[in-house]
Amino acid sequence: MENGLDLQRILDKTAEDCRALTGDGKPASYIPELATVNPKLFSISAATLDGAVLSSGDTNARFSMQSMSKVISLAFALERFGHDDVFSKVGMEPCSEPFNSIMKLEMTSNHTPLNPFINSGSIVMAGLIAERLGESALEEVLGFASRMTGNKRGLEVNERVYRSESMTADRNRSLAYFMHSIGTLSFDVERSLDLYFRMCSIEVGTGDLAVMGATLANAGKSPATGEQITSLDNSYTVIGIMSVCGLYNESADFAVKVGVPAKSGVSGGIVCAVPGKMGLAVFSPPLDAGGNSVAGVKALSGLSRQMKLRGI
Ligand code: GLN
Repeated sequence: MENGLDLQRILDKTAEDCRALTGDGKPASYIPELATVNPKLFSISAATLDGAVLSSGDTNARFSMQSMSKVISLAFALERFGHDDVFSKVGMEPCSEPFNSIMKLEMTSNHTPLNPFINSGSIVMAGLIAERLGESALEEVLGFASRMTGNKRGLEVNERVYRSESMTADRNRSLAYFMHSIGTLSFDVERSLDLYFRMCSIEVGTGDLAVMGATLANAGKSPATGEQITSLDNSYTVIGIMSVCGLYNESADFAVKVGVPAKSGVSGGIVCAVPGKMGLAVFSPPLDAGGNSVAGVKALSGLSRQMKLRGI
């Protein structure tokens, strides 16, 4: 394993080489607020299991978690309600359709979302959390997310992103109302969606995400604080699902190119948990057709090769 100096050099070189590799990618615009970002921003961080966090590029860049929050809601639900409860409501198989697909949901025999990392599955997770925890749901999820990321000031929701998504969420509303009509989503639709949108709008930097990845990579124990945040089994479950469902319908492609468990979001972030080694996170807003950061995938592919991180 690289020492701190080598690792910093590798990150600096990656930022220099990859920040312009955005190809034909464009920042997401279906959530209008996400389109206002500077597309040239690039930030990369690594968190080692001994507690070091190294970063390079535009390290002050802050962005919303978007689908990376699906890792938080799954881990939180597993900790609070247990494996059987969670997986009676969602599956854990990969999905070959885009992350907001309605078709795939209709096609499963029991109308259960295929996994907790597509929108339908994560809306069901949000509904479960909102139903069980009531008024304190958001505060508790934010507290959990802050502990997972080792963020001492405490993570917050970006209200502009939240409002922008909430006002333009026809597709997610369709999914949620459909799931409610067939009983897959048992809780109130708008309250479930409200928590889902707020979780997607939690603001982070790559340093936060790298610590979150390192916590999972360290069997649920935060390298930043030493706190056991998820059980060993729950960290394995989350990492397992990241391995096969983390980049939507480009998960297999990512497994071939990078080969580490990861989760992406349409803000342009990707968080990785490399078991027993480190957490990694990258941010670059221009996305490919599947909704994944173009430069982010290239950067991680190079890092994985260079540091021999491949493990799935
Ligand atoms: N908030 C986004 C949505 O629901 C998250 C999608 C994503 O990051 N892929 O569409």
